[in-house]
Amino acid sequence: MLAGAFAAGAVGWTLSEYALHRWVGHDPKSKTDFADEHRQHHAQRFYFAPTAKKARYAVPLIAGAFGLASLAARARGAAFVAGFAVTYVSYEALHRRLHTHGPKGAVGRFLRRHHFAHHFKAPQHNHGVTSPVWDVVFGTLRDPGVIRVPEKLAMRWLVDPATGDARAEYAHDYVIHHPAKRRDKGAAGESSSEA
Ligand SMILES: [Zn+2]
Ligand SMILES: [Zn+2]
Repeated sequence: MLAGAFAAGAVGWTLSEYALHRWVGHDPKSKTDFADEHRQHHAQRFYFAPTAKKARYAVPLIAGAFGLASLAARARGAAFVAGFAVTYVSYEALHRRLHTHGPKGAVGRFLRRHHFAHHFKAPQHNHGVTSPVWDVVFGTLRDPGVIRVPEKLAMRWLVDPATGDARAEYAHDYVIHHPAKRRDKGAAGESSSEA
């Protein structure tokens, strides 16, 4: 049942992805490289930890796990770690793609809304990137609703350069928040309530 072991490894990565993201990336007390890098990922429009830095952790870890698992459970162990590693690399590619390219179909739309609700609305929810399954299991799933994206953090694919607002095809899912415009409205609101 090598396919089963491979699939179990894939599921194993999705749980690791959730756990790392939630309990390390979003632990305000964590001083790990991972947490530092993840804070930057949230604070900037487009920041991903350098691939070489990730590889320094991931390659020895996966190679070590592969060796150990092969010794302990032979082909099945190797298939488990292979499933884990392939899903990890797919996660890296998918996460980057969510930020760089707009959705093409229902799954892409769902995954982007799930992830960008985490970025811009509820950082303590929607920790899964490749799937929402562990958010369901651990009770951190949140319906994105309409996602308000700060202008300076907005993904390039989302913004219509002609208007500075969300492109028409995404306007029912996202709005771009312009701080200056809001201040104007706030000031108008205050003066009318004083009058
Ligand atoms: Zn992200
Ligand atoms: Zn996060």
